[in-house]
Amino acid sequence: MARVYNFSAGPSQMPEPVLRTAAAQMLEYGSSGQSVMEMSHRSRDFEEILHSCESLLREVLSVPDNYKILFIQGGASMQFAMVPLNLMNGSGKADYVVSGQFSKKAWKEAARFGDAKVLASSEEKTFSYIPPVDPALIRPDADYVHICYNNTIYGTAFPAPVETGSIPLVADMSSCFLSRPVDVSRFGLIYAGVQKNLGPAGMAVAVIREDLIGKARENTPTMLDYATYANNDSMYNTPPCWCIYMCKLVLEWIRDEVGGLAAMEKRNLEKAAILYDYLDRSALFTPCVPDPKDRSIMNATFVTGDKELDAKFVAQAAAAGFVNLKGHRSVGGMRASIYNAMPKEGVEKLVAFMEEFEAANRR
Ligand SMILES: *Cc1c(COP(=O)(O)O)cnc(C)c1O
Repeated sequence: MARVYNFSAGPSQMPEPVLRTAAAQMLEYGSSGQSVMEMSHRSRDFEEILHSCESLLREVLSVPDNYKILFIQGGASMQFAMVPLNLMNGSGKADYVVSGQFSKKAWKEAARFGDAKVLASSEEKTFSYIPPVDPALIRPDADYVHICYNNTIYGTAFPAPVETGSIPLVADMSSCFLSRPVDVSRFGLIYAGVQKNLGPAGMAVAVIREDLIGKARENTPTMLDYATYANNDSMYNTPPCWCIYMCKLVLEWIRDEVGGLAAMEKRNLEKAAILYDYLDRSALFTPCVPDPKDRSIMNATFVTGDKELDAKFVAQAAAAGFVNLKGHRSVGGMRASIYNAMPKEGVEKLVAFMEEFEAANRR
């Protein structure tokens, strides 16, 4: 068996020890005589898995007591609708920072339900920077402000949460969830599709302040109401049991093997520095995000400036075991997603490969 270094933006590489544990428990979980995949979601074994996933996440992310953790199917994209359905019900206004395709989709979805304003946008420069937000432009009666914290496609990230005063800040953290410590109390709601940094595809996690639950508009479908999840331990219906189990294993890995989010951040900063330092000194590759303060530590985007050379690089890299380095179809170039599970060694070897490629293709 030869596992590749997988730089996919999502679904993405999982920690190898987690895959090994899952493999060892595949046929029989504990002494249950069954796989987690086969269990009743109402069984004691599964209820324990779900509750420990929840409590591990609470511990690892330091989630305050007045926040609920919800497990919801439908991915991050379904949150684009759940957020306005549940939260846009005071003034019916919400302010969106459009810093990439996902935040634009979120804004468009909200505009179907109420008055959704674009607070700031970086679209005119292909989302290659984080648009500064003038706090004076935030409508004082907005029901919330929405940002996408890490822009997966472009490789940008907010250096800090937007200051919104008493207006709840809602953040899509799909591609930076659990990559570093976060002060949850600065947000009304954090959501993340888990397939980037926490588990296999099939679920989103929502971390929501309790007072924001129970305000859904009247004809909100039951399954799109946060209260349904909060009041039923995320088990109103059959949850994505296997996905929750895998997330639990990843959380154990973060806590017990990595040493928590501060240690995770240190690893991630080291990895990102190795890659960006090289991109900044390379004569062949150019990082797509010029301002270091806007750069994502999870997704690094870069180009050679020559589409054919980009394609050649992606193909040769794949042949050498560095896969999924092709940039998003909307922007081209290259993207290396170096999520939590990517070991430092994977980034070091990628950079060594890029140096060789540069030497062989000097212009
Ligand atoms: C991947 C991604 C999404 C979409 O996630 P789905 O689970 O596929 O709906 C939304 N936002 C961000 C920031 C993402 O990285």
